[in-house]
Amino acid sequence: AADHEYPLQVDNLRKSFGGITAVDGATFRVERGTLTGLIGPNGAGKSTTFNLITGVHQPDSGSVTFNGEDVTGLEPHQVAGRGMVRTFQIARELGEMTVLENMMLAPQNQIGEQLWRSVTPGLRGRVVDQEAELLERVWETLEFFEIDHIAEEYAENLSGGQRKLLELARALLTDPDVLLLDEPFAGVNPSLERRLVEHIHTLRERGYTFLLVEHDMDLIMENCEHVIVLHQGRVLTEGTPAEIKANEEVVEAYLGG
Ligand code: ADP
Ligand code: MG
Repeated sequence: AADHEYPLQVDNLRKSFGGITAVDGATFRVERGTLTGLIGPNGAGKSTTFNLITGVHQPDSGSVTFNGEDVTGLEPHQVAGRGMVRTFQIARELGEMTVLENMMLAPQNQIGEQLWRSVTPGLRGRVVDQEAELLERVWETLEFFEIDHIAEEYAENLSGGQRKLLELARALLTDPDVLLLDEPFAGVNPSLERRLVEHIHTLRERGYTFLLVEHDMDLIMENCEHVIVLHQGRVLTEGTPAEIKANEEVVEAYLGG
């Protein structure tokens, strides 16, 4: 699967909610190993696009191709199982669990509990091995994000920034190929934001591919190789940060709403 130069491809994606067209023919692709930015004014359809890509919502029409496979309309756990995840805010119920417990539950949550329940008694030994392996990966991931010292802390007691790190750590545990990050720096202080950006660059160098929605234009322009501009549910333009900054249409879309 890792041989597709463009692991994610979106073609003519459409989605309406009642009378509101949230995504209106979005077409773009994301190159492997890049940090690609998806920008656009409020209500442009960025979050809905993420939801359509990861199976949270079904598109009215259009398609999503992941590593050459049509994944349009699959359930989120099926898309995650193939290697494409988006980060989710830690739900309230998960706040009453520790960071470690949140991490141990991440693969079940994302890949689907059915899969774990369907394990027959004869395979239990293998499950125990898998749990030991999972625990090892959990600690590695916590250490990578420098949140291993708060492993026993309840998630509800974390700062906004620590929560963002945990969300990213959870997404990584599913062993994805492509990660979709929807405003991962919201509520994060500048020093933690720099750390998060560094972590993302390190992961990108290891071969992960990122699609990033972020309001801070300086952050997008300084860190992304490629930028896609969404406006009214479709791609207005795309290019390198330098090309985007020089595009008057983009400036107008932002200023004119
Ligand atoms: P962005 O993330 O770019 O700010 P969204 O994808 O969240 O934009 O929203 C695009 C449009 O779709 C907005 O007008 C929003 O109100 C609408 N929308 C998004 N999700 C829903 C929903 N679940 N039900 C109704 N309208 C929605
Ligand atoms: Mg949004």
